[in-house]
Amino acid sequence: MTSIQTSTYQERLAETLPRVRERIERAGEAAGRPSGSVRLVAVTKSHPLEAVRAAIDAGLTDLAENRVAELDAKVEAFGKEAATWHMIGHIQSRKAPRVVAIAELVHSVDSPRLGEKLSRAAVDQGTVLDVLAQVNTSGEASKGGFELDGAVEEIHAMAELAGLRVRGLMTMAPFVDDEVVLGDAFAALRRLLDRLTASTDRIGSELSMGMTNDLEIAIREGSTMVRIGTALFGQREGSAQ
Ligand SMILES: *Cc1c(COP(=O)(O)O)cnc(C)c1O
Repeated sequence: MTSIQTSTYQERLAETLPRVRERIERAGEAAGRPSGSVRLVAVTKSHPLEAVRAAIDAGLTDLAENRVAELDAKVEAFGKEAATWHMIGHIQSRKAPRVVAIAELVHSVDSPRLGEKLSRAAVDQGTVLDVLAQVNTSGEASKGGFELDGAVEEIHAMAELAGLRVRGLMTMAPFVDDEVVLGDAFAALRRLLDRLTASTDRIGSELSMGMTNDLEIAIREGSTMVRIGTALFGQREGSAQ
């Protein structure tokens, strides 16, 4: 983490946040979607506490981290009530109980096994956890998530688990610039959600898709939540993530 001062993040957000909101609004309009139908989830991962402070002060209410330890540190620093905290990265099974305790929406349930661990932890803690099933829509081996083949059955099964509420699906687009390939990946997620919701009312209608470089395409394909880091906070130090 760097030690950029709060004012730097405040100044940065004063510039970047209106631009990001504008991009979301325009993309929504172009897709004929009602204003306000896409939620902005601000990804503060690998930025310091000052970035979180500035985000909260700027009125960002949904904040996301991709590592449990970092989420933990930030929730600890600001309190659970300070924001809606999202977990968007891979979770080791043994950390499931901690995630249940601190996250409000987990986007990254990437296997039936993790679903079961989170279910058990939520039941133990007497709570219900909102989750999204992460789906590997690109087929890239490096991407985690439910494979499209078999996803319907596996996600249906997960939606039956106690202590979990499956609010929808999440995907990461492939690392390419080709808009057709990106659009295909997002459309595949939307079609999968259509199939799931046609046969059960236990699965919600959220589609978490779209990041800094592809939010317009994701919104065109039906995204209800974009996860934006770089466009808000700048490049992350020393990481390609
Ligand atoms: C880092 C990250 C993002 C944000 O990516 P940017 O390109 O910086 O907007 C979104 N989703 C996940 C799962 C991430 O890990």
